[in-house]
Amino acid sequence: SLVLVTGASGFIAAQTVRAFLEAGYRVRGTVRSTAKGEYLAKLFAGKGDFEYVLVEDITKDGVFDEAVKGVDAVAHTASPFYTSNVKDPQELIGPAVKGTTGVLKSIQKHNPNVQRVVITSSVAAVMSTDSKPAPYIYTEKDWNEDSIPHVEKNGLESNGGESYRASKTLAEQAFWKFIEDEKLSWDGATINPPLVLGEVIHECDSPEKLNTSVELFYQWAAGKKSESDLPGKAGNWINVKDVALAHVRALDVPEASGQRFITSQGPFAGQDYCDVLHKRFPDLPNIPVGKPNTHDELIKDMNVFDGSKATKVLGIKYIPFEETVVEMADSLKKRFTF
Ligand code: NDP
Repeated sequence: SLVLVTGASGFIAAQTVRAFLEAGYRVRGTVRSTAKGEYLAKLFAGKGDFEYVLVEDITKDGVFDEAVKGVDAVAHTASPFYTSNVKDPQELIGPAVKGTTGVLKSIQKHNPNVQRVVITSSVAAVMSTDSKPAPYIYTEKDWNEDSIPHVEKNGLESNGGESYRASKTLAEQAFWKFIEDEKLSWDGATINPPLVLGEVIHECDSPEKLNTSVELFYQWAAGKKSESDLPGKAGNWINVKDVALAHVRALDVPEASGQRFITSQGPFAGQDYCDVLHKRFPDLPNIPVGKPNTHDELIKDMNVFDGSKATKVLGIKYIPFEETVVEMADSLKKRFTF
């Protein structure tokens, strides 16, 4: 069958395209430029049936009308992910929400054969940073109750992180509302990852252009952090290949219908990055030492996003941390000198 992957040029999406091809799907990806499309066409040459189409502005009405024609399923991943220099929360909320409803409306109008739509949501739509103090164990029953009121109250003065979390919450709410309100021939599922780490295969020619989650790691690997940044409690994490596989399984597994899936391996800290970098890349300069092998102690008071439902229903087994960090560092070393 043919699956549409929106925002195919992204960090998670390129791996998701690869996972669909490996699972035997034909893939159509949307990209914002021919150059990004050609990069992917080359990357996947000989690896399966991949084509790309241009969708430049996901906030425009009807922009997905052509892209959805003839596909059996859709994985919608395109959405802005950055938290610094956000001048207006709407620059994130607009594309997040209109991108989601736009693709759903195009399916409704132009493709009665679509069977399921999976969207890349986030733990940003699950966590309530103010009203649920750490340590809290989040499950799929939890919804972010803080970020939307924060943005409503603070407007242009909103914190960038809260603006991003509001954008993901509003987009996921719009997704489930559309499914509930419309008479649909298809159903949906959401993948809700925490910080996504691992191998970079998408087009990226400078560290400044790295996606947010890998850029945060690059800071450590490139020696831009110091002892005072440790222990650097970061959040929960997952390998990008597991996120990609979760998108495939969410379309394949009948029981995924109508479900949210937190895909999370558990909490970690910058200290854990440093431990792996010292062990596996001893030649890298300026990696802080901190207090090696204190992971268990460090995560005691951190929030946990419970990823067990994705294991149970989707069969995601979670790639270990050390392997993930090595894959990520190797892929960055191939591209950049540091
Ligand atoms: P990337 O920045 O690599 O990917 C984002 C994708 O969305 C790119 O294809 C990008 O296109 C596209 N995009 C962004 N803004 C727009 C816009 N205004 N109009 C059209 N397309 C747009 O980041 P990730 O791969 O990390 O993120 C992918 C998805 O995963 C997002 O929905 C994000 O919220 C979600 N997510 C990511 C996590 C992470 O830790 N990385 C954690 C949880 C969720 P282009 O390549 O042209 O810029």
